[in-house]
Amino acid sequence: MTAGVLCNDVHSRLNPVRVAGVKQPRSTAEVADLLRQATRMRQCVSVCGARHAMGGQQFGEGTLLLDCRGLKDLGEVDRERGLVEAGAGLTWPELIAGLHAQQEGMSPVWSIRQKQTGADDLTLGGALAANIHGRGLHMEPIIGDVEAFTLVDASGRTLRCCRAKNTELFRCAIGGYGCFGVITSVQLRLAPRVKVERLVEITEIGKVIELLEERAASGSRYGDFQFSIDECSPDFLKLGVLSSYRVVEESRHMEPAAELGTEDWEELIHLAHTDRAKVFEVYSHHYLRSHGSLYWSDTHQLSVYLQDYHCHLDARLEAPAATEMITELYVPPAQLAEFMGRAAEILRSSEVPVIYGTVRLIEPDTESALPWAGERFACVIFNLHTEHHGAGIERSAETFRQLIDLALSLGGSYFLTYHRWARRDQIERAYPAFREFLRTKERHDPGGRIQSEWWRHYRDLFAAP
Ligand SMILES: Cc1cc2nc3c(=O)[nH]c(=O)nc-3n(C[C@H](O)[C@H](O)[C@H](O)COP(=O)(O)OP(=O)(O)OC[C@H]3O[C@@H](n4cnc5c(N)ncnc54)[C@H](O)[C@@H]3O)c2cc1C
Repeated sequence: MTAGVLCNDVHSRLNPVRVAGVKQPRSTAEVADLLRQATRMRQCVSVCGARHAMGGQQFGEGTLLLDCRGLKDLGEVDRERGLVEAGAGLTWPELIAGLHAQQEGMSPVWSIRQKQTGADDLTLGGALAANIHGRGLHMEPIIGDVEAFTLVDASGRTLRCCRAKNTELFRCAIGGYGCFGVITSVQLRLAPRVKVERLVEITEIGKVIELLEERAASGSRYGDFQFSIDECSPDFLKLGVLSSYRVVEESRHMEPAAELGTEDWEELIHLAHTDRAKVFEVYSHHYLRSHGSLYWSDTHQLSVYLQDYHCHLDARLEAPAATEMITELYVPPAQLAEFMGRAAEILRSSEVPVIYGTVRLIEPDTESALPWAGERFACVIFNLHTEHHGAGIERSAETFRQLIDLALSLGGSYFLTYHRWARRDQIERAYPAFREFLRTKERHDPGGRIQSEWWRHYRDLFAAP
C-alpha cells in the first residue's frame, strides 16, 4: 500500500506530488500548534491555498500539507480607513460576498481593488504568496493593497508583519511562495466600489500602449488587449480586442450585461483548439457587442473558470491528454510591439499552439524582496497547449525559455508562478535578488521546516557551482 496523499495543481496537472498527509487548520492557533508539532516530530510541511500555482510551490514530496482554505474569518470593514481583516483561506467570491453583505444599503460599498483574471476560486493567501496582479491600468502588484498580515513562522511563532514591524518578513512573505511561513490573515486596503463602462475597440499591437494610456487618462481604471492566436494569419499576436473600464456616475442605470455563459466558454475553448481564426471572430464579436455595458468595479473582475475543461476537451477531440501552461512575460512598454513580432516567430517555429493571450500594464513594486515588476512593464500572457508526454512538455518548456530570453534581451522579465523551467542564468537576470532570497529563507527557517518542490528545485539549482 502506498502511504500519503497524491496532490496536483488544478490547472496544468503537471505537478503530481505525494504528501505525507493533509491538515486543514481553521484558526491561527491551530496553524501554530501544527507547526510546533511538526518541529517536535521533525516533520517538514508545505502550504497550499486553492492549488492553482503551476511550479510546484504548494506541495513537497513527503511533507505534511497545510491546506489553508479553512482560514475564513472576515472582520468588520473599517469604513473610515477602507480596511478589512480577512482570513487567508477566503476566495475572491467569498470575500466580495462577505463585504457586500456587511455593507448592505450603505454607500459607498468598500470592496477589493484588484484580483487575478481567468479564475476566481483562488485564496487571499495564495494571492499574497505570488504577489498577484489583475488588469488594473495604474496598479502595482497586490503588495500595494496590503496593510499588514499575520504570519505563523516555521517555528510556530505568530507574528504581525507590516511596513513598520517585522519588515523583512513583510517584504519576503509577499511574493515568497509560502517559504517563510503560513499567512493566516490579511489586513487588506479596499476601494469604494464604482460603476464602470466597458469600452471596446479592435486595434493593433503598435497602438495598444498609447490607447491604454489615453483610456487611463480619461478615467479608465482597468483594461487589457486580447490578441489574435491564429498562427496562420498575419494578424497573429498583432490584432486584438482592447477593452477598458471607465468610471461613470453612480446614477447611471445598469442593465444586466449580455455575458458569455459556461456553454459559450466551452465552445470558445473548443474553437481555440480547432479553429483559431474563427475563435477570434466570435470572441471579438461578443466583446464589440458589449461596448457601453456597465459593471461594478469589483464584480466585473470575476470570470468563468471551467473546472477540468481539458479532460472533457481531450475526450471530445479524441486527443492525447493535455492542458494549457501559462507564462507571463514583461517588457518595457516601448518594446511591446518588437517583443510581440519576435515572439510570433518563436511560437510559429516551435509549433506550440497559443490558446489564449492578453496584454496588460503594471506599475513598479518597490517593496517586495523578489519583485517581478521592477519597473513599469507591459505584461504579456500566453496560454500554450501542452501535451502530457515527455516531448510535449519539453516543447513547451523550450518555447518558454526562448520567450524569456527574448523578454530579457529587451530589458524585461517573467513571472515565477507558472513553471520552473527557466535556466539559472535567466533567473539570475530576471531576479538578481534570488540568491539573497534563498539565504534569507535559510536564516528564518534554518531547519528547512517549510519545503516545497519549487523551493527544493531552486535550492539545488543555486547550490551548484
Ligand atoms: C487560470 C489561472 C489564471 C491566473 N491568473 C492570474 C492573474 O491574472 N494574475 C496573477 O498574478 N496570477 C494569476 N494566476 C496565478 C495565481 O494567482 C497564483 O497561482 C496564486 O498563487 C493561486 O492562488 P491559490 O490560492 O491557488 O494558491 P496555491 O496555488 O495553493 O499556492 C500558491 C502559493 O501560495 C502559497 N500559499 C498559499 N496559501 C498560503 C498561505 N496562507 N500562507 C502562505 N503561503 C501560502 C503556496 O505555498 C504557494 O507557494 C492564475 C492562475 C491560473 C491557474
